[in-house]
Amino acid sequence: MALSSSSSAAAALLNGSGSISSSFAVCYYGPHHKGVEGRIESTNDHEDYEKLARGMESASPLEIMDKAFQKFGNDIAIAFSGAEDVVLIEYAKLTGRPFRVFSLDTGRLNPETHQFFDTVEKHYGIRIEYTFPNAVEVQALVRTKGLFSFYEDGHQECCRIRKVRPLKRALKGLRAWITGQRKDQSPGTRAEIPVVQIDTSFEGIDGGKGSLVKWNPLANVKGQDIWNFLRAMNIPINSLHSQGYISIGCEPCTRPVLPGQHEREGRWWWEDAKAKECGLHNGNIKQEELSQHININGNGVAQHTNGSAPASDLFNSQKLVSFRRTGIENLARLQNREDPWLIVLYAPWCHFCQAMEGSYIELAEQLEGMGVKVGKFRADGDHKEFAKQKLQLVSFPTILFFPKHSAKPVKYPSEKRDVDSLMAFVNALR
Ligand code: SF4
Repeated sequence: MALSSSSSAAAALLNGSGSISSSFAVCYYGPHHKGVEGRIESTNDHEDYEKLARGMESASPLEIMDKAFQKFGNDIAIAFSGAEDVVLIEYAKLTGRPFRVFSLDTGRLNPETHQFFDTVEKHYGIRIEYTFPNAVEVQALVRTKGLFSFYEDGHQECCRIRKVRPLKRALKGLRAWITGQRKDQSPGTRAEIPVVQIDTSFEGIDGGKGSLVKWNPLANVKGQDIWNFLRAMNIPINSLHSQGYISIGCEPCTRPVLPGQHEREGRWWWEDAKAKECGLHNGNIKQEELSQHININGNGVAQHTNGSAPASDLFNSQKLVSFRRTGIENLARLQNREDPWLIVLYAPWCHFCQAMEGSYIELAEQLEGMGVKVGKFRADGDHKEFAKQKLQLVSFPTILFFPKHSAKPVKYPSEKRDVDSLMAFVNALR
């Protein structure tokens, strides 16, 4: 959708055909207007949202927003992150209906994002409804684990305290919310989001399953079209964008991306690409993937019930040695080994282990003949405690290099598990 001017942009986005229907006449009353549009269409919502989503799959974002406001009135609000989802606020203004905007101030945002919030409030004449994390919970986390625990044991715990629980509180006062999620933002988790859906992760004001509806008006819009629209409509943007940031979240967990990199590569870059949801949209992660996305300390989003899921074994290759408990104990005890070893501690049900299976086998093939042996040790179930105590296991997979002349293995510190990265690690130590 290439747009050349603000008027044509608005018209084109109104209904996809370029014509402006009377119900979309631009008339902004501000967030506290209590006119007819502010009432919910029906409190007894029997809508078939799957059907509605199919019917609106090719509707413009503005049509979707208008439908959302029409249905939910003052019981719906836009979730604003301080990034390019400001476009939702512009669409809301264009519907001419009153609207509410809320945001989560995690306490770790960039100053540029706070400044942007202020700019947006002034530009649209609105007050953003901020929700903050529970101070006692933040205090407990930081006092026990420090300010940057997410680099050590994953972002889930911190996000749960600073984002997910505050969001939960905010949504408890609503019947529906509007997000800026797009399919092209994350190939791993957002490829199938519909334009509207029952929220399966959170509850609305009435409580219980199905009490909250999530609208994703930008689901089918490409990032480039968002930017064309932002420029065409002269919409204020977060100044971090001009420093190379695309996706913007908390300061320690967001970084600029290079040309050609996917925008989500700038978020939680030390973690696996397919798990890059902060918990706000966990419904995007398929249930079986959720059950696998854990760490040993139970800080993951879901706990696996026993370490012996029926998933088939991993790393099945003749180039790899499969260690049993006594074998790995012996290897760990040796002061002088004939050859150095690279060992992966894994669990077959672990999504991250599954994701690195191909690269690890390829690495084993490349290391054959280079004097480095490659092995695997299944470290879940009964072996988990031992692996935690003796082999530095914190989360799956853990990759260890056992040097030739030292008993103490060196733990691979990165989340990058491609062949080149692992080879660089081995070459630095062998
Ligand atoms: Fe914590 Fe980072 Fe999540 Fe922000 S994005 S809540 S700092 S883990």
